[in-house]
Amino acid sequence: MVVTRFAPSPTGYLHIGGLRTALFSYLWARKNSGKFLLRIEDTDKARNSKEAADAILEAFKWLGLEHDGEITYQSQRDEIYAKYIKQLLDEGKAYRCYMSKEELKELRETQMANKQRTMYDGRYRDFNGTPPEGIEPVIRIKAPLSGDIVVRDGVKGDTVFKAEDILDDFVIARADGSPTYNFVVAVDDYLMGVTEVIRGDDHLSNTPKQIVVYDALGFKTPNFHHVPMIHNSEGKKLSKRDGATDVMAYKEMGYMPQTLLNFLVRLGWSHGDQEIFSMDEMRELFDPKNINKSASIYNTEKLDWLNSHYIKNTPNNELAKLLEQYGLLLTSHDKKEILLDALKERAKTLKEMAGLVYEIISTPTYYDQAAVKKAFKDDTVEILTLFKEKITTSEELHLPSDYHHIMQEVVDEMKIGFGKIGQPLRVALLGKMSGPGLDNVMAIIGRDETILRITNAIDRHS
Ligand code: GLU
Repeated sequence: MVVTRFAPSPTGYLHIGGLRTALFSYLWARKNSGKFLLRIEDTDKARNSKEAADAILEAFKWLGLEHDGEITYQSQRDEIYAKYIKQLLDEGKAYRCYMSKEELKELRETQMANKQRTMYDGRYRDFNGTPPEGIEPVIRIKAPLSGDIVVRDGVKGDTVFKAEDILDDFVIARADGSPTYNFVVAVDDYLMGVTEVIRGDDHLSNTPKQIVVYDALGFKTPNFHHVPMIHNSEGKKLSKRDGATDVMAYKEMGYMPQTLLNFLVRLGWSHGDQEIFSMDEMRELFDPKNINKSASIYNTEKLDWLNSHYIKNTPNNELAKLLEQYGLLLTSHDKKEILLDALKERAKTLKEMAGLVYEIISTPTYYDQAAVKKAFKDDTVEILTLFKEKITTSEELHLPSDYHHIMQEVVDEMKIGFGKIGQPLRVALLGKMSGPGLDNVMAIIGRDETILRITNAIDRHS
């Protein structure tokens, strides 16, 4: 069975880079009818918080990414880690190191002065003497002193690390007994039955250390897939200046969950030149062997393009529900269909759409003066007055086409061009020149509101 996991450290919000590897892990598990597990790496009490862990879960909920089984919290697993540390000590695969901070510092300085790699020199590796007084020892693992550690990576191929270049007997438990990062990751991945580790390639350098832990404990290593980073258009690591990195900021800005998932799945993975993937397609097609080997480039236009696509293709009922998150209560609006149809094609984000809806449904209190100047001529009041009279007395007035016919009647009777009525009417209804088709606007706001807005505009300008 394929078992994947996402293992965030709860230090703040869920980062889009993290979400991307979470999505890859989720998809690969789903594709194989396997399991996608969640582990909160909250051992660093100074930097981790419950709020941050909850924020990650909230983001998962927004995106509809479901994990399997119970969440593993590393902060609750001290006893488990202690058991494996003891096992390694008992088997002579780890040992207590009594080096003081001063000694360690001195060693580093000497190594630096000699232009050597700074590393622990193994002085307590085979120590059986009497421990020095007053020092709480750390526990170090016996790492191989020579030979190769090979990370068999699904994305990068075999990456060979020379033991003598990168490893020393690294600390697996601090003086206070708390276990260290690479130790707990390896223990947990094994105990959780993880078969595929999909994570950012910023973790590649940790992997040989984790392999040392696996080997020492006699655990089988999982398959690794280290995913290249997301870069900005200048080829540098994505920062907040290039685009939001907090997943929930995308919700605030009005992106749909599908947009973000589709956007992220294509950042670093491809299936031919297909750009649009439904969740079902992603689950069916995702394969880590198609993860790109080079960094992927964050592209805001593509994000907006995808969001427009998903907005256009979302049924109005669902859209109305989604827009509630942006302060719009439309679910029971009787002209919801016309309203949403009129705006779906125009909005790049739900937030923008909510703004456009709001502009239509609120009576203008301000008129764009440049628009007034352009639209209001000597005969404008007469034209608007005739139009107003006609809609006041018209019997059938529901559909956009009903309003359109009346505009046409005015144009014919007064022998004027369409712009002569269209432009001032637009200013009267919306306070400015832009916006969706007027027949739609009037059908949405209805007869009384249309009359009110025209009256207001006439009063102001006659
Ligand atoms: N906790 C690590 C992080 O948030 C991830 C560890 C892993 O995936 O192995 O970067």
